[in-house]
Amino acid sequence: MIIAIDGPSGAGKSTVAKAVAKKLGFSCLDTGAMYRSVALLALGQGVALDDDAALGELARTCTIAFEHAEGDPIPKEVILNGENVTADIRTAEIDKAVSPVSAAPSVRTAMVEQQRAVGATGDYVIEGRDIGTTVFPDAELKVFLTASDEERAHRRVRQNVDRGVGSIEYEEVLDDLKRRDAVDSTRTTSPLRAADDAVVIDSTDHYIEEVIDEICLLAHERGASSLRSCDAQDA
Ligand code: C5P
Repeated sequence: MIIAIDGPSGAGKSTVAKAVAKKLGFSCLDTGAMYRSVALLALGQGVALDDDAALGELARTCTIAFEHAEGDPIPKEVILNGENVTADIRTAEIDKAVSPVSAAPSVRTAMVEQQRAVGATGDYVIEGRDIGTTVFPDAELKVFLTASDEERAHRRVRQNVDRGVGSIEYEEVLDDLKRRDAVDSTRTTSPLRAADDAVVIDSTDHYIEEVIDEICLLAHERGASSLRSCDAQDA
């Protein structure tokens, strides 16, 4: 079973995707981390962010892997070409570079192919921007998770403080989210939008645990069987 969770930056997709995967016993794939990894390579190698052919070559030839801590089914570390880049892909510099890189059609082709191959291996919660529309249009459950600009910026600042990486200036974070949403929503290839059959959840005035429980219930209604309960306490 595939659960697609799409939505704009900072809507809480990562937190929700990981918690839902844990509760249902599914694996979890963060496709934003894949585009961030290609952006990191592009910056490192001085590739122009509008050079579709060169960016596509990077995307096709790199190896992106996700590593789990012992005993934890949810991957925490991102390994790019054998190197741990978990923190390097969360900087403000990458926040700026990732939208143009992910708008390159040949990058998207390469990433979508890898994402489909991963999803074909089992039950997955996959988060991104185009999972329900392009990567897995037949996903059993599609969620489009959103929240107000201000709430998303506050959450992203708190997340950056916790991670110790990325900007912690509210105005800078708010501007970056709006800029990325604009690029992501207006690009030609796979723009950010809710699939016609997605369940739209606005999390602005809801605790994240409520959103997690709602998605777990929807997943059960659509056939997910899980040994774990959908009790928010163990998220
Ligand atoms: O989810 P996250 O904020 O880490 O994603 C970083 C960027 O990667 C997004 O702003 C978007 O430009 C791109 N992205 C995408 N398609 C996806 C996932 C992420 O274009 N499926």
